[in-house]
Amino acid sequence: GKWVYSFGNGSAEGAAQMRNLLGGKGANLAEMSSLGLPVPPGFTITTEVCTWFYDHDNSYPETLAAEVVEALDRIGAATGRTFGGLERPLLVSVRSGARVSMPGMMDTVLNLGLNDRTVEALALEAGDRRFAYDSYRRFIQMYSDVVLGVDHHEFEEILEDYKECNELTLDTEIDADAWLGLIEKFKALVEEELERPFPQDPQEQLWGALGAVFGSWMTPRAVTYRRLHDIPGTWGTAVNVQAMVFGNMGQNSATGVAFTRNPSTGENALYGEFLVNAQGEDVVAGIRTPQDITEKARLEAGSTSPSLEALMPEAFAEFKSYCARLEAHYTDMQDLEFTIEDGKLWMLQTRAGKRTAKAALRIAVDMVSEGLLGEEEAIGRVEPGALDQLLHPTIDPKAERDVLTTGLPASPGAASGAIVFTSAAAEEAKAEGRKVILVRVETSPEDIHGMHAAEGILTCRGGMTSHAAVVARGMGKPCVAGAGMLRIDYRNGVINAAGRQLKEGDIITIDGANGQVLSGEVTMLQPKLSGDFGTLMGWADKVRRMKVRANAETPQDAKVARDFGAEGIGLCRTEHMFFEGERTVVVREMILAETEEGRRAALAKLLPMQRQDFVELFKIMHGLPVTIRLLDPPLHEFLPKTDHELAEVAAAMGADPELLRDRALALEEFNPMLGHRGCRLLVSYPEIAEMQARAIFEAAVEAAKVTGAPVVPEIMVPLVGLKKELDLVRQSIEAMAVAVRKETGAELTYQIGTMVELPRAALKAAEIAQSAEFFSFGTNDLTQTTFGISRDDAASFLGTYQKKGILEQDPFVSLDQEGVGELIRIGVERGRSTRPDIKLGICGEHGGDPASIGFCEEVGLDYVSCSPFRVPIARLAAAQSAL
Ligand code: ADP
Ligand code: MG
Ligand code: MG
Repeated sequence: GKWVYSFGNGSAEGAAQMRNLLGGKGANLAEMSSLGLPVPPGFTITTEVCTWFYDHDNSYPETLAAEVVEALDRIGAATGRTFGGLERPLLVSVRSGARVSMPGMMDTVLNLGLNDRTVEALALEAGDRRFAYDSYRRFIQMYSDVVLGVDHHEFEEILEDYKECNELTLDTEIDADAWLGLIEKFKALVEEELERPFPQDPQEQLWGALGAVFGSWMTPRAVTYRRLHDIPGTWGTAVNVQAMVFGNMGQNSATGVAFTRNPSTGENALYGEFLVNAQGEDVVAGIRTPQDITEKARLEAGSTSPSLEALMPEAFAEFKSYCARLEAHYTDMQDLEFTIEDGKLWMLQTRAGKRTAKAALRIAVDMVSEGLLGEEEAIGRVEPGALDQLLHPTIDPKAERDVLTTGLPASPGAASGAIVFTSAAAEEAKAEGRKVILVRVETSPEDIHGMHAAEGILTCRGGMTSHAAVVARGMGKPCVAGAGMLRIDYRNGVINAAGRQLKEGDIITIDGANGQVLSGEVTMLQPKLSGDFGTLMGWADKVRRMKVRANAETPQDAKVARDFGAEGIGLCRTEHMFFEGERTVVVREMILAETEEGRRAALAKLLPMQRQDFVELFKIMHGLPVTIRLLDPPLHEFLPKTDHELAEVAAAMGADPELLRDRALALEEFNPMLGHRGCRLLVSYPEIAEMQARAIFEAAVEAAKVTGAPVVPEIMVPLVGLKKELDLVRQSIEAMAVAVRKETGAELTYQIGTMVELPRAALKAAEIAQSAEFFSFGTNDLTQTTFGISRDDAASFLGTYQKKGILEQDPFVSLDQEGVGELIRIGVERGRSTRPDIKLGICGEHGGDPASIGFCEEVGLDYVSCSPFRVPIARLAAAQSAL
């Protein structure tokens, strides 16, 4: 096969659509090169080499070495340089790049090919010893850190010591001879740590770096990241080897990163940061504070450091023209990396830019009006899960603000929580249900877990494109970055915030809208959705086939659901209505009653409360369908837990507390999830179904009178496995319908259906459908019962299963389409075989999960139902899956 693809000089063997083979970075470097943009020549070693490497005991295909030599020669020919040559030496960068950008992969190594001799050649050629030594020391640091495993802090310590002794603050103040001295110290450090000298042979350096890239594919960090993001290990990474261009060649050189539109707001304005006389990651590492690229951004920020536009107008103009070209070419907002070497612009990377949900919406909608995209394409441009971000609270503008300090508004939303300093502490707090803000000098890929666990992230170093900022935006977490007035003392667990002391555990609030850090907790406001949101949702609703309903019981949830566009309630869990205040006592009376009369007496007290709940719900839903599930959970969930609770019920019933205690004990079950629950309760105690049915019907009649809209309740019987179970409960419901019709004289239309949440129900769907007008797949229980895994106990081993690759995803979060999915397919098919117009839906967590929603579209369900806050996500996901 062909393992290496070259690019440069206005042409390329690869192209953008070869991302799977070349990785995202390599494919786009090739594309930019073909478009005629100035890209330093280079080559990409394919992802297939990575796969081969792991299939063959960490070795390479036989012909790879020769292909690399040839590709290096091509770079040499294009640049007039020789790799390892003592005159005009060719230096390269070695850059990893998988199909999707992936933290945890090897960091880029720059200036590879330098050694004690080539560095002198470089110095001579550039007429600048300082530049050459600066490049060499950077190479030793990077190579030793990422390839040889010598921690970069050790080098930084040597550097810091030197600066301190010589009263210097910036690296740029260090002169050539001083760098030379530091290089000797760096090499000595490596030799001491590794018991062999720093490799001088450029070929050894190159193959060392290549091996490190492929090796990094399987590091625990990379494996964890892939697991969290459902990236298959079989994809592999590519490696890019590319001629170096130098942004550290003096005052007429620079390096920077940019977005073609504002990644935070979506505004159609070039946005980026750069540093003069700098290289590589200097901009994002937060070592110096970067400058704005455009004059507009500089003015808006009130910064006095000149913009690139002012400093290097020609390079800026050229760069700006490439931004426009790349946007039009990719029809998407681009995230770019560039370097200016002695006035000459070089493009080093382009990719679709990460953006906030707000920006994603605005860009998608703007691009339709700019004629770059069609409506249906625009729908596909917003990731449904990202809409979650828009639903984040912001700080009440009327709230008092005790501002501690201000940093950059790196990711929108606001959050309050207790200060923690480590990711481990954040995860611990999350597990205990405490809200925290992760406060760090800066973050690194190791902090991803902690960032996930925290409500928000605060850093004191780094810009808008720093790790913390980029990752937080991706997660939809509020983030304030680069709050430079914070002094964090990790060791003593304290922060000095512009003179005020804070300690671990103190509550702070961060405002991702303006970068403020506030003391204490602050009142928040729920977000209002922008016009762009409505526009895109409107487009989505036009193409969507499935309906979207919400799981809701309380009037408040129902209102939120309707505001978010829910087209009905797919699951009203009646037992949730029983857990409130005085009702619990009545419910307990019902459960603990010895006799049917006792139960009926308690149920009679519950009836008006339950009826009132339904009246409210029907009124809010105003004619939209409402599926009400009859009592489902095991009775023991309602049992009194304390002596006090027991005494309370005993008093209400006029019963002996001791006898009551015995009765409660008798109701205990070994395995309640598979015990006396669902329709089994309704079979044992038909009076429960009767009361609930009566409440529903009477409420329907009453609500219809008020709203003028007909109410057609859908009554759902849970946990059916046998048709006869459903038939029995059905009888009670129908009898009640007859009674209520007679009593009220009202027309009554309703439907009776069942949850399909037991494998037997799916298998016997043809038979059960004779008695059911609708099925709702209760995939939480169906997942439990199909796997035989209890959801409440799964945490202790599901993590291990995912780590060992037995399960890719938590099946309670994203539907197991193969296994549980097959039962759903069977249920759908057999249900329809009996009743072609049977209404089919899904309720449970999966109804709000975009991947699972795609599956629901595929099997042809009529609707999905999810929690109210996920309704917009489901609407968009349903639209995308219909396209
Ligand atoms: P990442 O995937 O972490 O962004 P990159 O491979 O893009 O890593 O490299 C990081 C930075 O290194 C780039 O943004 C660029 O500034 C610098 N860099 C990479 N290759 C070169 C090169 N050939 N010449 C100059 N700088 C380079
Ligand atoms: Mg990059
Ligand atoms: Mg269930």
